[in-house]
Amino acid sequence: MLLARFAESQAHTARARALTAEDALRQQTSLQQQLTHQAFHDALTGLANRALFFERLEHALDRPAAAQNTVLLLIDLDHFKDTNDSLGHPVGDELLITVGHRLLGTARHNDTVARMGGDEFAVLAEDLKDFPAQTYAQRFLDRFQEPFALSGHRSVFITASIGVVPITEPATFHDALRNADIALYAAKERGRNRAEVFEPAMSQAQQSHARIAQDLRHALPRNELSVHYQPVIHLPTGQVTGVEALLRWQRGDRSPIPPEVFVPVAEDTGLIRPIGTWVLREACRHGRHWHDTLPRGKALSVAVNVSGWQLKDHRFPDTVRQVLHETGFPPVSLVLEITESTLVTDAATTSPHIRTLRDLGVRISIDDFGTGYSSLAYLRDLPADIVKIDQSFVLRCGSEANKSLIQAILHIGHALDLDVIAEGIENPHQAQRLHTLGCPHGQGFYYSPPLPPTALEAYLTTRAILTASRSHK
Ligand SMILES: [Mg+2]
Repeated sequence: MLLARFAESQAHTARARALTAEDALRQQTSLQQQLTHQAFHDALTGLANRALFFERLEHALDRPAAAQNTVLLLIDLDHFKDTNDSLGHPVGDELLITVGHRLLGTARHNDTVARMGGDEFAVLAEDLKDFPAQTYAQRFLDRFQEPFALSGHRSVFITASIGVVPITEPATFHDALRNADIALYAAKERGRNRAEVFEPAMSQAQQSHARIAQDLRHALPRNELSVHYQPVIHLPTGQVTGVEALLRWQRGDRSPIPPEVFVPVAEDTGLIRPIGTWVLREACRHGRHWHDTLPRGKALSVAVNVSGWQLKDHRFPDTVRQVLHETGFPPVSLVLEITESTLVTDAATTSPHIRTLRDLGVRISIDDFGTGYSSLAYLRDLPADIVKIDQSFVLRCGSEANKSLIQAILHIGHALDLDVIAEGIENPHQAQRLHTLGCPHGQGFYYSPPLPPTALEAYLTTRAILTASRSHK
């Protein structure tokens, strides 16, 4: 009996020991899996990490070229740093997670979606036979049209730039990644919020950044810069209320260089300050001339775009005062356009300068509204007189979401006594729709492209200048 009991107890202990060993093994396996998962996945978003992405890319490139149809996308959020700085890092992290999920939801089932670090993501799509690389990339870009919902009922708009590399012939791992980088850079340089497919010519273009910086130094003394003016229209009457001054650069005997390309170079090199002051002076000089010579000319306002770099300079308000004094242009007719992102992100540095400028009588306009933060609550706190609805909303103003947003901006604008201008009106349908929604002002190619000063004067003989007094704070 005792023996039997002993044997039983022995068997029990052995079973218990075996069970513990099994548990330990299970635990070890799970830990192993966890470590492997950690080694190959991004801790924040749970997406594949750089290491796993590289492994998959290498594997994809090893396959016979004919069977490939592989596409590599490098996706970088536009101005993420600004968003992160203004919303705070925890919210920035939440945004990265939300973006990651959306990318994953946009990719096909077997595609690899990775976070490469910071605000850079990558997608690897193999056997992409059904549509071209550009279309595939566009699918991702389109998903950035919708706001990202974050906790606390906050929603944020952010755009992305995408470098696209279709791999149709044998390529090395390094070439594929480098080309993706170059294509991404091109997408950023061509204005962001776009996808660019890699072309060999892009590598040469990249070298031209240094060249642009070099040539830009001589642009002013060589008289290569000019200011064109795009009319701002009062939508109910079709009359002109003002113009926006836009900088143009015709480099030597070559084709014009778009501002999206050279303005960032001007900002990088600090040339934005002398060039910005020159634009301001030209615009005020022309404005004064139109005030003096055109019928009802005194009612015309002139808007000048101001870069964050200029605005941060403590000497900027003095420069404006000086230029107004020199040219005799009335402060109340001058509008300074500042992008929403500059107003929000650099508020601490720029607010006192903006206050000084408004005390002078100069009006402030929020440019590209809706692209950076689109939090309508901001509108209440921004020191501004005018808000410009970004053309991306005007472009799709037929869609319900954009219609509601435009209505909301108009509503708040009205409540806060802000003037509202819709940018980028390209056809009569858009003009009609905005007018119906109650948007008071608009500008865009439908009315007129930016014109050299003399052509603008001719345009103003065909359309009257509106004399009715405009509301401003
Ligand atoms: Mg503008």
